Amino acid sequence: MKPIKSAEFIKSSAEVGECPAGDKPEYAFIGRSNVGKSSLINLLTNHSKLAKVSSKPGKTQLINHFLIDESWYLVDLPGYGWAKVSKSQKASWKKMIAGYFETRENLTNVFVLIDSRLEPQRIDLEFVTSLGQAGMPITLIFTKVDKRGANKAQSNIAAFRKILKKEWEELPLHFMTSTVTGQGKDDIIGYIREINEG
Ligand code: GDP
Repeated sequence: MKPIKSAEFIKSSAEVGECPAGDKPEYAFIGRSNVGKSSLINLLTNHSKLAKVSSKPGKTQLINHFLIDESWYLVDLPGYGWAKVSKSQKASWKKMIAGYFETRENLTNVFVLIDSRLEPQRIDLEFVTSLGQAGMPITLIFTKVDKRGANKAQSNIAAFRKILKKEWEELPLHFMTSTVTGQGKDDIIGYIREINEG
């Protein structure tokens, strides 16, 4: 798999109306805080610091656009599930994310990241279900599937899928990643390229 050649930060937007022109296919990454999103974005793009690892709660929540290989956008969306955010911060996150999902027409796929070390979390199940109900094309990424704890990860993933199966006719595709071993990197890049090449 040829690695990504170039990854360039374009801009941070406080709302969908500020995002760059939607003239390229766009792939969004989202998940609970601490799920490993920044680490994964840095792994995929071969940058050690493209996405900022562990941004603090309470900071302005922004939609970050990165231009990849001059042909598609990778979007780092603000995560959910911070332990200590106020009601009004939660509401403004919801509004921003809903606005983005509803109006961003070039949005091709949403990757929802889930921590494979945890048993199925209600917040993740609810988020995935809400996207599914809205008809959003989604792919799950189970993160932190390192060698140590691989069995636990497998059983957490199976449990998550089992719960989804009760309501979903067809389960979304999923990948497993580890930023320690690099697992999943080529699969995700290959998957995006395949869609882009249509
Ligand atoms: P974010 O808040 O979703 O952007 O998560 P970060 O990328 O900041 O990662 C949160 C924590 O999980 C950091 O301490 C990372 O080093 C760690 N982490 C992220 N990905 C992995 C992984 O694949 N394996 C392991 N073992 N730790 C990871």
